[in-house]
Amino acid sequence: MICLLDNSIEFLKGVGPKKAQVLQKELKGATFGDLLTYFPFRYVDKSKIHKAAEITDDTVYYQLVGTVSNLKAHGAPRTTRITAMLSDESGSIELVWFKGLSWVKSYFQSGQRYVVFGKASVFNNKFNFVHPDVEPYNPADFTIGESLQGVYNTSEAMKSSGLGSKQIARLIKTILLQVKGTIREVLPPEMIRKHQLPSREEALFNIHLPPDTGSLRRAIDRIKREEYFFFQLQLMQNKMRRNELVRGLPFAKVGDLFNDFYHHHLPFPLTNAQKRVIREIRADLGSGSQMNRLLQGDVGSGKTIVALMLMLLALDNGYQAALMAPTEILANQHFESLRELLKGMPVDIRLLTGSTRTADRKEIHSGLSDGSLQILIGTHALIEDNVVFRSLGLVVIDEQHRFGVAQRARMYEKSSRPPHILVMTATPIPRTLAMTQYGDLDYSVIDEMPPGRKPVETLHLYHEKRLRLIDFMKKQIALGRQIYMVYPLIKESEKLDLINLEEGYQSLMRDFPEPQYHISMVHGQMKAEDKDWEMQRFARGLSHILVATTVIEVGVNVPNASVMVIEHADRFGLSQLHQLRGRVGRGAEQSYCILMTDFKLSADARKRIKTMVETNDGFKIAEADLELRGPGDTAGTRQSGALEFKLGNLATDEKLIRQAVADVTALLEKDPRLQLPEHQPTLKQFEKLFKKQFDWSMIG
Ligand code: ADP
Ligand code: MG
Repeated sequence: MICLLDNSIEFLKGVGPKKAQVLQKELKGATFGDLLTYFPFRYVDKSKIHKAAEITDDTVYYQLVGTVSNLKAHGAPRTTRITAMLSDESGSIELVWFKGLSWVKSYFQSGQRYVVFGKASVFNNKFNFVHPDVEPYNPADFTIGESLQGVYNTSEAMKSSGLGSKQIARLIKTILLQVKGTIREVLPPEMIRKHQLPSREEALFNIHLPPDTGSLRRAIDRIKREEYFFFQLQLMQNKMRRNELVRGLPFAKVGDLFNDFYHHHLPFPLTNAQKRVIREIRADLGSGSQMNRLLQGDVGSGKTIVALMLMLLALDNGYQAALMAPTEILANQHFESLRELLKGMPVDIRLLTGSTRTADRKEIHSGLSDGSLQILIGTHALIEDNVVFRSLGLVVIDEQHRFGVAQRARMYEKSSRPPHILVMTATPIPRTLAMTQYGDLDYSVIDEMPPGRKPVETLHLYHEKRLRLIDFMKKQIALGRQIYMVYPLIKESEKLDLINLEEGYQSLMRDFPEPQYHISMVHGQMKAEDKDWEMQRFARGLSHILVATTVIEVGVNVPNASVMVIEHADRFGLSQLHQLRGRVGRGAEQSYCILMTDFKLSADARKRIKTMVETNDGFKIAEADLELRGPGDTAGTRQSGALEFKLGNLATDEKLIRQAVADVTALLEKDPRLQLPEHQPTLKQFEKLFKKQFDWSMIG
């Protein structure tokens, strides 16, 4: 059966090849169906007519009906502006144009009433409308049933080809009338029944030509569900295929190393969340399928020890384990702390980074290939070709968003049968993102902090108050504390009006002179060993202040550091600020995070700072981040691209996404291969949507 929705828009009345070309480019598609899924971004309530005297707000849209008089050209001899007065029985308001002046001059006729639609702006303490939408008033447009009118986004290219919002609306209406009665349902009938959804055709009609707000709401709801449904179906399908095709290494037993560690070497009792996560993961590792799991836990929630215990489980089952960290500093720190935890246990653990000496490297390589080396910690040096394991069973990847998908995939090839993969992140992921972006990974979360942590106190300080800051820092140092001072990474050449790291360092040297004070500095341009030396100096308590760019963002652990000063905090994103704050509050002392900014701040920056001051909860911060920036920009999801929903909004649709997950799960339980006759339309739509996306992505 031919589907009219696949017709090319070239064959639509009123669209020639030129318009078709513009549409194809701007809508990224060229069929009737593509145009039908170009949804209005807002609606005008045509039934609501305001009075000129009601205009009190410059943020909402108003629709007025009145006569236009007093047309005046300004800036003679060359007209640069035209003004006119629109009057209704309550009063009048000025209309202003800066372009299209000759059109304005010839458009208005006296005596005729016009509908004027726009946002009011304030000029000289009075409201006016700049470039409002204007058309002759036709009472027939305002009858019930035609009251909500869709407004479509149009680019400059579209507008200049005669494809404004109104023209798009007209084209869509033409298509709708043409395809009426032929739009097939694509969602499973049980889902339609369960949520009492309007049919696909009804929803498409009502989203473009809503008869009333109730129908519109149901149409939007249905279309969002459809988006989430197919997205989830794809994720779950990937996961099922993976489980079928890749058999996992069975970690059948809990052995001596795990038990010995658990009973005799744990330095502290595990939190309930840590215990639960270990149980979850253990069950997964023993199941016979290959694990791909995301472990999320806020900074300081104790992911490292969880990773260690799982690595011991691998060893107990005769496999090797590896832990990969994004920076040398972090790999070092992991190595040191794991070695400390394993003290007195018969486990061979080594560190491999870019600066490992050749002799050590050789030893490591041979230990790996004969199996005597059991745990390898390192940076991306681990993925080099000459690193060959005898039997790699588990790979832990820390701060996974720092690695590209390709790098992770390389670890996959380090074993004849793919090892289990655990990716850890401290970047809190809003639940909606976890279900979408990471929907084909299993997901565990440590949602509890080790006991006794005092929440970090966060303050916002303007740069003018710098003396107060210095004073405070000196007091903290006198108490024996250490301080991080972080600068945004700015290149001199960018000529931004910011104190950069170097200047900051110089002025700190004046405020904190030697020999009383010692300051360390690390930044991205330094050689690894210099960086390491400076870090170590700070970690050992030999310097009081660590001046740094965001290289310290990830993972470092200096419990005695109790103050985090962030310069130009408005330059950082929310999740970055949160990560940085997580560097302090690791010891017994009250810790502080001080956000320094200028007095002048953008609304978004102010909101970010406010969120930071108000909450320590990583999930709340992640959700605020999602709301402020949208999913494409949320940390850890930048490579996604998969998250472009037409209507769906991850910041607000948690319930719909949850239900989509449930709907897809129910469908696949009943009919895993979509073989039942009633699911054929769903299968067809799936194939149509994801034709090109049946890729073999192993991890996330
Ligand atoms: P992250 O999740 O940020 O990687 P870490 O694993 O580095 O956190 O742990 C942060 C600190 O908390 C470390 O000093 C660690 O020893 C300590 N820690 C972890 N778990 C516990 C616990 N259950 N009780 C007390 N301290 C803990
Ligand atoms: Mg960590």
